[in-house]
Amino acid sequence: MRRTLSILGSSGSIGQQTLKVAETCGHKVAAITVNRNVELAEAQARKFSPQLVAVVDEKAAADLRVRLADTEVQVRSGPEGLLEAAALPKADTVVTAIVGVAGLKPTLAAIDCGKRIALANKETLVCAGELVMARAKEKGAEIVPVDSEHSAIFQCLQGCRDRGEVRRLIITASGGPFYGKSCKELSLVAKEQALKHPNWTMGVKITIDSATLMNKGLEFIEAMRLYAMPPERIQVVVHRESIVHSLVEFEDGAILAQLGSADMCLPIQYALTWPERTPGPAKPLDLLSCPPLTFQRPDPETFRCLGLALECAEKGGTSTAVLNGANEAAVALFLEDKISFLDVPRLVEAALDRVPVLVAPGLDDILDADRAAREAVYQSVR
Ligand code: MG
Repeated sequence: MRRTLSILGSSGSIGQQTLKVAETCGHKVAAITVNRNVELAEAQARKFSPQLVAVVDEKAAADLRVRLADTEVQVRSGPEGLLEAAALPKADTVVTAIVGVAGLKPTLAAIDCGKRIALANKETLVCAGELVMARAKEKGAEIVPVDSEHSAIFQCLQGCRDRGEVRRLIITASGGPFYGKSCKELSLVAKEQALKHPNWTMGVKITIDSATLMNKGLEFIEAMRLYAMPPERIQVVVHRESIVHSLVEFEDGAILAQLGSADMCLPIQYALTWPERTPGPAKPLDLLSCPPLTFQRPDPETFRCLGLALECAEKGGTSTAVLNGANEAAVALFLEDKISFLDVPRLVEAALDRVPVLVAPGLDDILDADRAAREAVYQSVR
């Protein structure tokens, strides 16, 4: 099945790999969006000839308009440009590869048009999962996860006729670059070390989240929302080799797993072609050259971000939006060398203590909680 894509966040790691999949598998590209990387946007636009390119930054958009003046490509700007790309009639599938809660409104816009969502923006489900899933059901929009763990679970659930037969979802975690380190050792790690993931090449925000294990916490909440599972039926296990991407245990005790090389092209492609499978660019896995597969217990005390996320998963309401907003702000400060590695969980915890939790929140409550959480983080470092 050939799809026509709108790729939100085409200059990022997932966006670029989506274009690689599109090129190999013959999917059309109707729209791409970037924040401000006009050089890459120009190259992508010339190669894939989309109808529309949206650039969030106004100045950068003006620059791109000049660069693409000799083409038919329409250039839009600002958050409205993003929404236009998400709702573009020509696209049947929207790949949400924007980082952070900034992906929430465009995802809802695509859902309202009944498009298939290839969901690569976990923060959307962490902040507003119940709202987003309910809206998708109402509008008949399919949500197919791109995150490797959730894609693995999605694949293991194919053929499962009754979700009541699922006993547990088991999410694997690589453990990141600092697995096994003590709090004392973590207090000394530098940004450069945190940016080196042992198994995956990814964008900077998710790489830091993988080092703090916040990524696994966010994925735990993402799994709860995607699969309507209570927290007690989801387990995180550390699997250093990143070969088993996640598992599902059924009521009879059978456990199904999905294995593959650490290559995001496969989950991206499956989100586009599901329920079909086609040849694609993903690197095949050679079982005979795999290291032994190991599974260990995570340590949410040392990796406090994971502990905090698990607490928010229980609490629900706006707490997950506060967790996410505070984390986004703290990670940005860490990347600017303004705070230390262990300040990330410290500031997230302080924000969770400060911002009150609302139950059954609407979209505005969620966005307010996100803002309050960021503000709490900025205030504690001022
Ligand atoms: Mg993942």
